[in-house]
Formats: sequence, C-alpha cells, structure tokens
Amino acid sequence: SRRVVIVGAGMAGVQTAVALREQGFTGSITLIGAEPHQPYDRPPLSKAVLLGTAEGSAFDVDFEALSVDLQLGREASGLRPQAHELDTPAGPVAYDVLVIATGAEPLALPGTEGVPGVHLLRTLDDAERLRPVLQRQHDIVVVGAGWIGAEFATAAREAGCAVTVVEAADRPLPGALPAEVTAPMTDWYAQSGAELLTDARVASVEPGTVVLADGRRLAAGAVVVGIGARPATRWLAGSGIALGADGSITADERLRTSLPDVYAVGDCASFPSGRYGQRLLVHHWDNALQGPRTVAANVIGADAGRPAEPGEIYDPVPYFWSEQFGRFVQYAGHHGGAGTLVRRGDPAGASWSVLWLRDGVLVALLAVGRPRDLAQGRRLIESGARLDERRAADPAVPLKAA
Ligand code: FAD
Repeated sequence: SRRVVIVGAGMAGVQTAVALREQGFTGSITLIGAEPHQPYDRPPLSKAVLLGTAEGSAFDVDFEALSVDLQLGREASGLRPQAHELDTPAGPVAYDVLVIATGAEPLALPGTEGVPGVHLLRTLDDAERLRPVLQRQHDIVVVGAGWIGAEFATAAREAGCAVTVVEAADRPLPGALPAEVTAPMTDWYAQSGAELLTDARVASVEPGTVVLADGRRLAAGAVVVGIGARPATRWLAGSGIALGADGSITADERLRTSLPDVYAVGDCASFPSGRYGQRLLVHHWDNALQGPRTVAANVIGADAGRPAEPGEIYDPVPYFWSEQFGRFVQYAGHHGGAGTLVRRGDPAGASWSVLWLRDGVLVALLAVGRPRDLAQGRRLIESGARLDERRAADPAVPLKAA
C-alpha cells in the first residue's frame, strides 16, 4: 500500500493527515516535524498563550488512533525526487507521495540576528521566551505594525508594558490593506496607550536602546520584530523543485508541485487562483485548514485514476482574522483590482465594514466587530453575487445579493 510522508507538523501538515484519514486513505502516513513539541496551533501564540491565560495550544488530534506515525524533533534537510527520498540527520525517509507543509519562517531585522533581547514570534518557544518579558513590564519596542506587531503590542499593553511601535511605512498594515482603510487603525494604537512611530526606520539595536535612522533613541528592555515571514523552503535547494521569487513552492491548482508525487500546502506554497486570476501566497490559518482537503482528495484521486472532481481544485476565498486593541478584525476575499469601495458604518466607531466591488460584484470585505457582515459577505463573494451599492452602504441592512 502507498506511503504518504508529510514534512512539517503545523496546521497544514496535521490537517493533511486528518483529511487523508477522513477521506478514507488506508495507506501509511508519516508526519515529520522539526519542532520537539506536540503539534500546536499558532494564532494563540500572540494572544492567550503569550499572556499566559492559556497554557498551550496543542491540537486536539489523536495521532495514534488515526494511525499516523508522528516523528517530532526531526528536520528534513534535503529532497532527492528521483529516489523518492527525503534526507534527515537521522537518515533517509522513502515516500510514494510527499506533502510539503513546512510553513514560513519570520524575517529577522538585518544586523540584529542573535542580539540579546531581540525577539521574533513564530514558535511556541518564542512565545514562552516572551511571556516573562511581558511580566517584567519593560519598555518594549515593536518593529513592524503588521498583524503580528499589532497583536503583540496589544498583549504587551494588556500586560502593562510601555510600548513603542516602529513602522517604516506611513501607516499600519502597509502590505496588507490600502491607506484609506488603515487610516482609522492608526488611532487604535494611541487609544491603547501604545505609541506608533510611522515613517521610522531602525538603524541599529544597542543594549537597552533602539536607534532610529533619524537619530532618535528609544529605551528598549526588549525588542520584538514582526516584519514578515518567508516560506520555509531553503532546505529544498538542489532538489529541482520550482520556487517563486518570494520563495514559495509554486504549486498548481491541485496543489501539486513541479516534481512528480510531491504536493505543497499552507504557508510554504503559492497557488494559481482562478477566482482572482493571479498566483496567491496566503499566510493565514484558514488556508492551512482548507488546502489540505484538496491535497488529500488529489492524493486519493490520483490512485483512482479518474477525472478531476470539484474538491480537487483549490480556489478558495481567502479568509483571516486578527484580534488587536480590543477589536475583532476579519477579512475575506482579495481586493486587488477592485474598482469601488463601499463603507458600512463610521470607521471612527467601534464597528464598521468596508466592501470592495468590481463591476458591481463583491470581491472582498473587511469587518471590524461585525462578524455577521463577514459571514454574509464571505458567502456572497463565494457565489459571485452583485450588490446594490446604496443598500450595502447601510449598516442596518443585512448584506444581500441585489
Ligand atoms: P506552520 O504553522 O509554520 O508549520 C510548519 C511546521 O513545519 C513548523 O512547525 C516547522 O517547524 C516545520 N518545519 C519547517 N521546516 C521543516 C523541515 N525542513 N523539516 C521538518 N519540519 C519543518 N492566521 C490567521 O488567520 N489569524 C490569526 O489570528 C493568526 N495569528 C497568528 C499568530 C502568530 C504568532 C503566528 C506566527 C501566525 C498567525 N497566523 C494567523 C498565521 C497562521 O498561524 C499560519 O498561516 C499557519 O500556522 C500556517 O500553517 P502551516 O502548517 O502552513 O505552517
């Protein structure tokens, strides 16, 4: 019977194992993960786990009952596709089908790698190192006002730390959302008591101090860097697998890679979106939940040798959420190329949404404290529904197709 080997025991790797069994796969499944910990969920690391209100976030999955051979603390160091083998320090691992789910690694601030007191936030070990830092209520400097920076700043303020956020762009979330939408978010920092410095660049980090390019010096008992992440694909050098300029494994619409019998899913892989007409690299949890179902269907379908079924093509409406400064922020879709922006509610208020329309069709939506808008909007995006702009702008009227 067939041996499936999955590399990376994060959300995408674990869900691939679960989906294979759910869909009836009876061959052997080996799940190899570099981290020594029982596989866990990452979103709580910048929230409850960081604040110590939750001990951990291990997945509630019984690997033994699923007859999944879980090999933790084992890192894949290379891939030899002709031999159908992975290399690890403990020796090679043979596969019939390989699923790569090695996720992403956070970008370090150049020049600060290994500097004491400078932290990244990606793993459980990172969160456990940062928990006592918060408890000491130091002055904390956060570099980057992205999703991780905003969530970390939120937790640090909650813990009573003095927080300064240094952002190179002129606004928060510069890579993710357009200026007209993020403008109200600037105030969230001040309301929480954090200081947001925009158009500000870190020149160097000295013990206890962050020095900015314009000469300003910021007291920093600790520095937390949240400037993005790149796919963890360096270990694939020399394997011949096709990678994009962003380091992602360029999978096809069935999440197959350029190598035979090798799939890729989650934060490490990009895929062509038929829906949005471009290749997407998505670094969000929902993608690591949905993608594995497509991979499992294709692994099983390839055995059966029948034509593609709908579940075997991956074309999701991307979705994510963030909890920051007491607000629940959710986003669905992809707003690139949308012509019209419709606001629902006052962005200075506690809850509001923004809709993006292209030729009258809803393509993306941002909801702040309006989970019902998100749920309704997400379905409308999925079905390609047209909206009546005037009605959609009234926050008292539920979102409905025109
Ligand atoms: P990962 O979770 O990165 O898992 C990959 C695993 O593979 C890792 O355990 C890694 O150690 C292992 N690995 C890497 N290389 C190798 C190798 N060579 N051999 C063996 N193992 C290897 N998304 C949201 O939508 N909402 C949120 O609120 C949210 N909050 C987040 C908060 C934090 C602090 C972080 C870090 C992420 C957050 N995300 C959030 C993003 C979400 O967690 C990721 O999109 C998701 O974890 C991706 O899952 P993955 O399995 O693809 O990758």
